[in-house]
Amino acid sequence: MPSVIDELRAEVNGHAITPDDADYEAARAVYNGMIDKRPAVVVRVAGVNEVATCVNFARNYGLDLAIRGGGHSAPGFGTCDDGIVIDFSAMTRVEVDPVARTARAQAGATWAMLNRATHAFGLATPGGIVGSTGVAGLTLGGGIGYLTRRYGLTCDNLLSVEVVTADGQTVTASSTENQDLFWALRGGGGNFGVVTSFEYRLHPVDTVYAGIIFYSIDEARDVAAFYREYIASAPEEFGAFLGFHQGPPVPFLPEKWHGRPMCVVVGMWTGDEAEGPARWQPFLDIAPVAGSMVGPMPYPALNEAFDAMLPKGLLAYWKANFLSELSDGAINAYLDFGRMVPSVQTSVHIYPINGAVQRVSPGETAFPYRHAAFSPVIACMWRDPADNHSNIKWVRDFWTALRPFSEPGGYINFMDADDLGRITENYSANYAQLASVKAQYDPSNLFHINQNIAPAGAPMLSTFHEDGSRRPLDRS
Ligand SMILES: Cc1cc2nc3c(=O)[nH]c(=O)nc-3n(C[C@H](O)[C@H](O)[C@H](O)COP(=O)(O)OP(=O)(O)OC[C@H]3O[C@@H](n4cnc5c(N)ncnc54)[C@H](O)[C@@H]3O)c2cc1C
Repeated sequence: MPSVIDELRAEVNGHAITPDDADYEAARAVYNGMIDKRPAVVVRVAGVNEVATCVNFARNYGLDLAIRGGGHSAPGFGTCDDGIVIDFSAMTRVEVDPVARTARAQAGATWAMLNRATHAFGLATPGGIVGSTGVAGLTLGGGIGYLTRRYGLTCDNLLSVEVVTADGQTVTASSTENQDLFWALRGGGGNFGVVTSFEYRLHPVDTVYAGIIFYSIDEARDVAAFYREYIASAPEEFGAFLGFHQGPPVPFLPEKWHGRPMCVVVGMWTGDEAEGPARWQPFLDIAPVAGSMVGPMPYPALNEAFDAMLPKGLLAYWKANFLSELSDGAINAYLDFGRMVPSVQTSVHIYPINGAVQRVSPGETAFPYRHAAFSPVIACMWRDPADNHSNIKWVRDFWTALRPFSEPGGYINFMDADDLGRITENYSANYAQLASVKAQYDPSNLFHINQNIAPAGAPMLSTFHEDGSRRPLDRS
């Protein structure tokens, strides 16, 4: 093993970090502090050639290969034990073409980097709600955020990608080149190759009329019922999620609410700024407001508003299923468990995915749940390991209570490691085609540290059982 790694180090121009290096501890860490993997080597790639070298080494020597963009994957798919990690954190360049309204981002860019670069031209593409999330993993899984109702999923705005495939070749995938690969990469996650850069379509988005409104949990039933009606028919310029949080220590929320369970509505109006106050007013009227911040702000500022509260290293466990409607039964479950939100970092969010998402047919990209109205997540995050057991139990019980009101599948980017067995539900009618594209581009399942799609005809793998072992899933 050492000689293989030494050989790899030489071929990647020294950009390899191994257990003997001083920065190994920092280099092996991903966002979720629960993940404690020890890769043989983290390669901080500087170019496409080094990516191909890592892919070739992993394939030729039978080593596990993890790919890390922003490192935000809840199950920690951006690292592995004993294998090679391709770490894109040194490849973060973003180039904007304001005339063509496109941007190309290298695979290590975060949403803060991409949004800031495009904002300089009054442009944006739909991304996530947190600035430190990587563009790579979010885009490949679908991509949901404030601009989703108006402009679709992030992957709906992808124009092309540069990809290193399992055989070490570098190809372009787009609507005109390698179309099957391009189809699979728009929602199929990291299963099909290592994407080195993403080209996005941009839209005019500049100053937005943002709203962050907190209510007592006791008002949550009225707020949820109103939100459900409003978001069903609101103009698509309005993008906002409903959530359940502990009151955070922010200046616009009086101290008496800090740490108490609360209901929130957070989002933005991207239409005519003059209409902003009227678009938010109903949410200020529907119930007594505990604290609010409603007003114009640059889009990147809203995107980064929660970053400081959500630092790398928090312990995390997530679960999710799509909702075709926010039924009374689902609202009851949200009220029951929303009262027990266990930490200030925990984010129970219900993202609307109606509007532009639903104008794309379910088979047009790998992302299948185009008929769902909401993509919720129970994202539990906390600091104290002593809370691991009770917090994981809270997420599982919450998810179980929501299950009767949910679709069979969920959004793969909101899934944890123990949800690998739900991959067929998550891709539903698109699964067979995904397995067939996988068999074509990655027949040996080199790219398996992800929500794994087995090549057609091969057994399904689970790489991240809770006990850390690797074995085929027991699907009985
Ligand atoms: C605080 C926080 C906020 C979030 N908010 C949102 C949100 O608003 N909307 C949303 O949709 N999701 C959100 N997510 C979920 C997010 O989409 C996923 O965690 C996503 O995987 C993060 O991408 P990443 O590049 O940071 O992750 P990484 O951990 O680096 O990668 C995740 C997986 O993506 C694949 N991957 C990464 N880079 C590449 C590459 N270059 N080529 C091929 N495959 C690759 C790999 O399979 C990897 O295992 C959030 C997550 C966190 C932690």
